[in-house]
Amino acid sequence: MENSKPEMSKDILENCPHCGHKLSPWQQVLLSVDRVLTCKNCWYRIILDVPVKPEPDSPDKNKKTKG
Ligand SMILES: [Zn+2]
Repeated sequence: MENSKPEMSKDILENCPHCGHKLSPWQQVLLSVDRVLTCKNCWYRIILDVPVKPEPDSPDKNKKTKG
């Protein structure tokens, strides 16, 4: 078995997807936090597409005790 491919979830962009301008480390931090960043080069609004996961309907989710 030869599967030496590190599974890295590349979530953070290093370059602007619009103009390819290199983002500074600080901009990458802002992007990871706010999920949105405006490129200072082309003023393109970079928005990270957040995978929207619907919460699984647990059978016992309404389990609360009345005090
Ligand atoms: Zn740009």
